[in-house]
Amino acid sequence: MLREKVKLLQEKYDLVINGQEVPGTSHEYFAVFNPATGEKISEVAKATKEDVDKAVEAAREALANSKWARWPAARRGQILNKIAKIMRSRFQDLVELEILNTGKALSAAQGQVMQAIEDMELYAGATTTIQGHTKPVPNGFFHYSVKEPVGVCAQIVPWNYPLMMTAWKIAPALAAGCTIILKPASLTPLTALALADICHEAGVPAGVINVVTGSGAEIGSYLVGHPGVDKVAFTGETTTGKDIMAKASETLKRVTLELGGKSPNIVFPDADLEGAVNGSVFGIYYNTGQSCEARSRLFVHEEIYDEFVEKFVEKTKKLKLGDPFSKETHVGAVISRGQWETIDGYVKLAEKEGARVIYGGKRPDGEEFSKGYWYMPTVIVDVTNDMRVAQEEIFGPVVVIMKFREEIEVIRMANDTIYGLAAAVWTQNHGLAHRITSQLKAGIVMVNNPISTFPGLPFGGYKQSGFGRELALESLDLYMETKSVLSYVGPKPLNIFGI
Ligand code: NDP
Repeated sequence: MLREKVKLLQEKYDLVINGQEVPGTSHEYFAVFNPATGEKISEVAKATKEDVDKAVEAAREALANSKWARWPAARRGQILNKIAKIMRSRFQDLVELEILNTGKALSAAQGQVMQAIEDMELYAGATTTIQGHTKPVPNGFFHYSVKEPVGVCAQIVPWNYPLMMTAWKIAPALAAGCTIILKPASLTPLTALALADICHEAGVPAGVINVVTGSGAEIGSYLVGHPGVDKVAFTGETTTGKDIMAKASETLKRVTLELGGKSPNIVFPDADLEGAVNGSVFGIYYNTGQSCEARSRLFVHEEIYDEFVEKFVEKTKKLKLGDPFSKETHVGAVISRGQWETIDGYVKLAEKEGARVIYGGKRPDGEEFSKGYWYMPTVIVDVTNDMRVAQEEIFGPVVVIMKFREEIEVIRMANDTIYGLAAAVWTQNHGLAHRITSQLKAGIVMVNNPISTFPGLPFGGYKQSGFGRELALESLDLYMETKSVLSYVGPKPLNIFGI
């Protein structure tokens, strides 16, 4: 399953600081693996705190001196379009690099790389929407407000969508005129590094995008606390998000957090059964279930419960696992041994808690799955909403299914979680769909549809799923400050004290 020739793959990757690839002060490198085979594919520089200092200094210099922030916004838009154009020309290469480093299925990688490109184009256009205002003020005064970049941004991304999450973060920051220190996940830094290259090729000035690779707990945390950083944008686990928020509060940095989820997927008896089953299978097993918005809690009305579960398992059995580079494959590998063990631990815990695994719950049979980190799509029933498997983010191809009878009961169960990222409702009754939608505490609600993102639609959570929105015009605002300017323009100087 190892694709011998992935064009963008390098033997070694350095840090990117001030437009240069540099080895890092420790000259140490860490290994990066192909999760589908467990084989080492490359080595990446291990940044030290000193390297982080240098990256922050480069980003501060670029903010102050490179005119980037003072370019006409539309010119930054041209650069974003150029980034998108280069990405399009290397679409297949980026897809292959992403697959090699994540083990995800080709179709998933293709969609995500395309969305990363469209995200660049979205914010290229969005640069033209940046504007201030003028407000009516008393005679003799003149007011205007302007938008200015928030400054130097630390952007920390996870391993589940390495390129797409990087694009979600850097595109609005670049559009706003910010400078960036990007910290990719240690398991999956390759496409983020490739994207930094593309940005420089497209004309992003030196120092505007810097990439530091290495341990989140060490250099990520140091970056978050760094006094030279003005804003932190993070996607990852809720507990990490809490640490980041606490650390960032020391210098009152701006923070946006896109965190975990345990998203409910609610199926009413009048739903188109085939559509609801297909959508629910996609909703959990897409990206091998490693999605913050995975619909991992499935609530099915008691009238259709048995039939639904039977069909759900039938369809799940049809999912093809295997070579992630094949267009036939639906479900790829999980990211790492650690994640495999976490998933398996939750499945065992479910059984201990009294639930029943009716499909999956183990490594798939067959020689091709003997290496790397493969886990069967797994279906768990006889679950109650208070079990840990119904409350905690498993982040793998595991769904828990629960039964409900009343509308009010399912709303209560759906909302009974610390999370509030996404939710889905399946019914032909539009009144019911929107009545439920209005009561769900979630940032994204899907109605008769399993797709959660399109460029331009805001993405982000309620409750402990974080705050701030990405992928839409709203996020551009989160990379800018508003400066309100009030001038006195009257004929005589003001003497308010009358002295
Ligand atoms: P983390 O939240 O720990 O990591 C996400 C990113 O943050 C990585 O770049 C990581 O670096 C970095 N990081 C980790 N700790 C810190 C810190 N203290 N300060 C600053 N940056 C930090 O997620 P993991 O990758 O460890 O995955 C653990 C679990 O998180 C998964 O099992 C899954 O449940 C959940 N998860 C949720 C995601 C979501 O989108 N909701 C995405 C990814 C994971 P490094 O890689 O070097 O550790």
